[in-house]
Amino acid sequence: MKKFSIAIHGGAGTLVKGMMTQELEAQYKNDLKAALDAGYAILNDGRAALDAVEVAVKVLEDSPLFNAGKGSVFTATESHEMDASIMDGKTLNAGAVSLITGIKNPVSLARDVMEQSDHVFLAGEGAMKFAKELNYTLEDAAYFYDEFRHKQWLEIKDTDQFQLDHSTKKDSKFGTVGAVACDQNGNIAAATSTGGMTNKKWGRVGDSPMIGSGNYANNKTCAISCTGSGEFFIRGVVAYDVACLMEHKNMSLQDASEEVINKRILEIGGDGGLIAVDAKGNIAMPFNTEGMYRASKTSEGEETISIYK
Ligand code: ASP
Repeated sequence: MKKFSIAIHGGAGTLVKGMMTQELEAQYKNDLKAALDAGYAILNDGRAALDAVEVAVKVLEDSPLFNAGKGSVFTATESHEMDASIMDGKTLNAGAVSLITGIKNPVSLARDVMEQSDHVFLAGEGAMKFAKELNYTLEDAAYFYDEFRHKQWLEIKDTDQFQLDHSTKKDSKFGTVGAVACDQNGNIAAATSTGGMTNKKWGRVGDSPMIGSGNYANNKTCAISCTGSGEFFIRGVVAYDVACLMEHKNMSLQDASEEVINKRILEIGGDGGLIAVDAKGNIAMPFNTEGMYRASKTSEGEETISIYK
């Protein structure tokens, strides 16, 4: 049987070790494992990488521990605006949504954009109209409310600051979520979902829903999901840059991912990380922060669940 594999992340960031209790760490690992297992089961059944990444991201969106779906950070106007994207490496089909509210699983709406519309990227009001046409039910604000996130926002709401959910300042430790997978047919896919950055305003959109920046998949090279300071990841066109290094410079998945995260994005001041797979089932998970919530599993029996370096 061909090797298959999955990797997931729950955000990169400078995690303050002292703040992490054993119990909390166990909770994170528990939710990471639940997402990993859900995605892996799909691959194990012989189903598509695309299904595996959607299912894994949904589990992370449903967890209040991560900044996506339930548990999304607060914007400057005390609301939640979520972004998500998904891409199929076999067909290069992609779907993305941005600035959406009330949707329990933004990744599924992104997939619907890919499969049920003629478009790739729907934003704001229009994306919400599309969701309505597909009979999505809307959750009320209480579903997305999280006390910790609200506190994070209260601390900076009267400033011009906006911050990474897991940035050092407030010892916040949660982030954007994503999954990449390689299935038994050697098809790969990537999905990413986020609440963005605390106190963001003016319809700020990060890298997560941008195909090529925060998310990308192409069977020829790799499937990538990023996490980090979105402004830099957009300017670095990070996900596609990894694919380019593989395609045009013949670099391995590991070398290309590290070149981008530990060199190129650092050079312009960006912090964060990414998860990556190629069509042979290889996995890379580099980050230039102190930690990144991450987990991976392959059909050869390797399994990892880690937070720190
Ligand atoms: N990349 C995300 C954004 O800029 C944030 C994150 O990774 O947590 O919206």
